[in-house]
Amino acid sequence: MGTREDFIEQFRVDGDPDISGRDTNPDFGWEREEGEALFAEELAELVELQKKLFASKKSSLLVVLQAMDAAGKDSTIRAVMSGLNPAGVMVHPFGVPTDEEMGHDYLWRIHHHTPEDGYIAVFNRSHYEDVLVVRVKGFAPEKVWKKRYDHIRNFEQMLADEGTEIVKIFLNVSKKEQKERFQERLSRPDKNWKFRAGDLDDRALWDDFMDAYTDALEKTSTEDAPWYVVPADKKWARNVVIARILRFHLERIDPEYPDPEPGLDQIVLD
Ligand code: AMP
Ligand code: MG
Repeated sequence: MGTREDFIEQFRVDGDPDISGRDTNPDFGWEREEGEALFAEELAELVELQKKLFASKKSSLLVVLQAMDAAGKDSTIRAVMSGLNPAGVMVHPFGVPTDEEMGHDYLWRIHHHTPEDGYIAVFNRSHYEDVLVVRVKGFAPEKVWKKRYDHIRNFEQMLADEGTEIVKIFLNVSKKEQKERFQERLSRPDKNWKFRAGDLDDRALWDDFMDAYTDALEKTSTEDAPWYVVPADKKWARNVVIARILRFHLERIDPEYPDPEPGLDQIVLD
């Protein structure tokens, strides 16, 4: 398979993301148990890296998650963040903007939640909604949303220049798999709460959303804020891919425990 970097490279967007041409359901030649064992290994590495990130307080990690409904944003967060020190992880869901948020520019509510040094912030949806749902549903005219790709690139570059490592993940679920997950949300009482009738409106606009995702990913995947298209039909395989991506980016930060205070080795406790 090659190195871990080669493995994650296949998901990184450079140019046309070719969303529809990608396999949403690969198993990479692993049985489920193998995949789960690999995930556990990656998670153990993430735990160690996060400890150092938190201790060193020199930089931060921002993980942006975008996807259609039922693609697994919540379950990704639950799986991939499990075992990390919760004191160092902040998860922010971005839903329909409030009246106050609507009264400001679209990045206003976002910037406030970008991670402080030492922390990992996970955005469940993000400023990208302002070039996705806003575009597809016509909540803003084209001349407004068209300019946003530039704003977003510049905003993210500023964050990166100031010490935030940025990873953006599009969970690529098939329309067929979404249907099955919706069906489960409809038939299981413990999952009913996840279903809104409005989710079907977005499903009906699937192709328009894919066009909007294609543009957004192509125009905003940069060296310092890359997009990854992650196959999302198999949750266990998705977990391995995402854990490897996060590990790569945490290793790029290369956090180290800070040097001890001078004289610590002379201290004798009585
Ligand atoms: P969920 O993530 O399923 O809880 O749903 C959140 C909803 O908020 C989704 O339907 C998003 O499309 C919507 N949403 C998020 N950000 C925006 C935005 N900036 N403008 C309009 N709708 C948004
Ligand atoms: Mg939803």
